[in-house]
Amino acid sequence: MSPHPEPARAPARRGLMLVLSSPSGAGKSALSRRLLEAEPGITMSVSVTTRTPRPGEVDGVDYRFIDLARFEAMVARDELLEWAPVFDHHYGTPKGPVEAALAGGRDVLFDIDWQGTQQLRESARDDLVTVFVLPPSVAELERRLHTRAQDSDEVIRKRMSKAAGELSHWAEYDYVIVNDAFEAAFESLRTILAAERLKRRRQTGLTDFVRGLIRDLEPAG
Ligand code: 5GP
Repeated sequence: MSPHPEPARAPARRGLMLVLSSPSGAGKSALSRRLLEAEPGITMSVSVTTRTPRPGEVDGVDYRFIDLARFEAMVARDELLEWAPVFDHHYGTPKGPVEAALAGGRDVLFDIDWQGTQQLRESARDDLVTVFVLPPSVAELERRLHTRAQDSDEVIRKRMSKAAGELSHWAEYDYVIVNDAFEAAFESLRTILAAERLKRRRQTGLTDFVRGLIRDLEPAG
């Protein structure tokens, strides 16, 4: 049996779209940050929004902060993969960076609400992996919104009143994580990503590799 040369590099894999949704304050931003630090193969989709930056938020990193006229122009030019009104503002996912990342075999992480997730389900079903993050209790949700100390009491009240609406969509998601202990929740998220990356249909680059294995197993002659 002649040894088949090793593939020059790891077999190509189709990039996946990992969506995290939750009510505000359930911890999905912290989970996202931790995942991006731990996993070099995944990039964050930076949304555009018409809301104003919170203290510490950086334009182009947390969001691209734009006005309503620019947002509407992007919608008109079909430059958004999905978009939705959330808490009196508009939020949307620019198409270009997502398509470039997926084509390059990179995974993309989205922090978007249930409305955006429904739109992605219609347009990108095969690439999509959706995760809903639940808070351990309402008291804890409220505590986290207050300790974030970035929003006024009025804004926090509004977010609490919208939490039930967001929660009611939890059953539409592939995976659900209760964010009781942060590290355990993070490990669950990382495990989901690892398993989804190994799905056979995503490992398109393995076809030639397995063909080579089979060829090398055939008796010579
Ligand atoms: P925040 O104002 O707290 O940053 O985000 C408010 C909500 O908007 C969060 O639930 C977040 O997931 C959602 N969101 C952020 N970016 C997008 C987006 O591009 N599309 C959609 N549909 N929702 C988004």
